Parts: sequence; structure tokens; C-alpha cells
Amino acid sequence: MIDRESYEKRSGRDRFFRLLEEEMRLLIDPATGEMRRDWAEAIACVLCGARDEEELFRKGGLRFVRCRSCRLIYMNPRPSAEGLERLYACESAANDAWVDVLLSEAEEEFQTRDFSALLDEVQRLRPAGRLLDVGCSIGRLLALARGRGYDVLGIELGGRARTYAREHYGLPVLGEKLECADLASESFDAVALVEVLEHLPDPRRMLSEVRRILKPGGVLLAGVPNAGSLGVMVLHGEARTFNRNHLVYFGEGTLVRLLEQEGFRVVKAMTVVSLLDTVLNHFQMLDPFGVPRTDLLPQPLRQAVESPQGRARLEKLLHDLGLGYRLRAIAVREGQS
Ligand SMILES: [Zn+2]
Repeated sequence: MIDRESYEKRSGRDRFFRLLEEEMRLLIDPATGEMRRDWAEAIACVLCGARDEEELFRKGGLRFVRCRSCRLIYMNPRPSAEGLERLYACESAANDAWVDVLLSEAEEEFQTRDFSALLDEVQRLRPAGRLLDVGCSIGRLLALARGRGYDVLGIELGGRARTYAREHYGLPVLGEKLECADLASESFDAVALVEVLEHLPDPRRMLSEVRRILKPGGVLLAGVPNAGSLGVMVLHGEARTFNRNHLVYFGEGTLVRLLEQEGFRVVKAMTVVSLLDTVLNHFQMLDPFGVPRTDLLPQPLRQAVESPQGRARLEKLLHDLGLGYRLRAIAVREGQS
């Protein structure tokens, strides 16, 4: 039987997205329904520099476009540096609620599986040494890496998450931006950037700093939401990944291109989390994020997804086809200093 409570609800994600939507209104000028002019800037594609975009959809006053040249999806206009600063200066109930999501049993189970698989890959390439997690949040990946013998360090700007990582796991975590942390060049064997790049106005700058602190041959572990997921392809603007927190939306092709441009060789790219319930609900013209149902599906599909083996097979197939909700890449820093 399928679980009647959706992953969204079990993990507290529904509450997080509700709060985020409320906070998104800060960015919007009530007179025009669009992003406030004084907080916004129009940009060229951050991957290829072209100014040749097609509008995909608008959502809550935000406009999402795709570059015709390299296919990167991004928000345009986006909040300017000043706008972002003002936005992040506001007490964010949503960002605090995200910590609750991470602490939920559903998310703990998922993250432990996800991070363990990623660390397996890192260990194959770099079995020991110093590992930095930029945007380490509550510290789960670091704690797992420490358990495997790595000498670990975290960076986390969110106060609530940072305190948790320090107090619960006893981890060393810095509270300043990577470029301000004064870390020595070529001093790390591995760097994790999980769910970070999509938040940044300038992901290249971050990668160039990561490249600087990694030893040649060191490993980068990057994770972003997958713009080519089944969920995004079916739900378009309804997919929750399209929100004010995410400025750039990578698919496998665009993520690999970005990493290669910044001096990394991608060893492996994979996707995880099928979010099958969300898509199945949408197929039945139900609320994608509501209670999962299967009774309105055509019989063969219903049978397939109601049997645990059928569902597991389908989920594995979706991951293998690159259709999972989250995208992970393992890459090696190329070249000499
Ligand atoms: Zn482009």
C-alpha cells in the first residue's frame, strides 16, 4: 500500500514552502505585481553570457526564462545584490522552517542515504584528508564524513543550522562566506557544495574559489535541484523548486558545462528522489502536493505504482534516466595551481 501522507507533509516541506511564498511577496511591488524595480536587475545568461532568452512562465511576480544558446534556466530580472542583501537581512521564518524539514525523520532517512552514496564516490577518488562542506546546514554530511575518517570543516551562514551543527554534532563550523574565510590555497582534498549553487548570483565565482582551495586532483561534490526532472517537466511553474530562493536552474548538461568551464572534470552525474507521488497526482488532475492518490489512474499504471516492487522499479528507472528531482555531480579539480 502507498503511504497516505505525502513526503511533502511528512518532512514539513509543505510548511516551509508556504512560508517562503509569504516572504516572496517582499520582493513584489503591489502596484505592478512584478519584482520591485529598486530591488531588481536584468541579467545576461550566467553560463554563456548571451542575452537571448525565451520566457517560460511567470510565478508570483517572478519571471523565469531559458537561454536559447545554452539552455540554462534562470530568474530574470533577479534581485540585485542590494535586493538580496535586504531580503536575507529580514528574519526568515522560512529558512528556520527548513531546519525543521532537515530534522524530520523523512528527510533524515533520505539525506543519510543520499550523502552516504555521495561519500562512497568521494572516497573512491580521495580516500582520506580534509573535507570542507560549504553551506553545511545542520552538518549531516560532515558528521558522516568525519565517521569515515575525514578531517572536516563546515561553513554555514544560517544561524539556527550552524548552532545545531556545532552543538548536536560538535562540528567545527565557520559562520562567514567562503571568500571571507581566508582558507589556504590547495588545502582541501574534497569540497561539498550541496544545494548552494542555485542560490548564488555568481556561481562561477564560488567555483573559482573552491578550485583555489582544492588540491589538484581534489574532489568536488556538487548537488542542485534538477531542472530536467520529471517533476519539473510535468509541473513546470507549479514545481516548488521555482521560488525566490533559487536564481539559477541547472540540468545535467548545464551543470556539467559550468563545472568544466571552471576547471573541473566531471566523473559522474546522477539524480535522486523521484517525487513520483507529486507527478502521479498531477496526472490525475489532483493537487500535486496533496494526499497521494492512485485511484484515478489507468489500471495498469495504478497496479504498477501500488505494488512496492513496481514502485521501486519505476523509481530506479527514473533516477537512471536522469529524471530525479535532485542532481548530483562528482568532479575532480584539474590541472596544476
Ligand atoms: Zn546561456
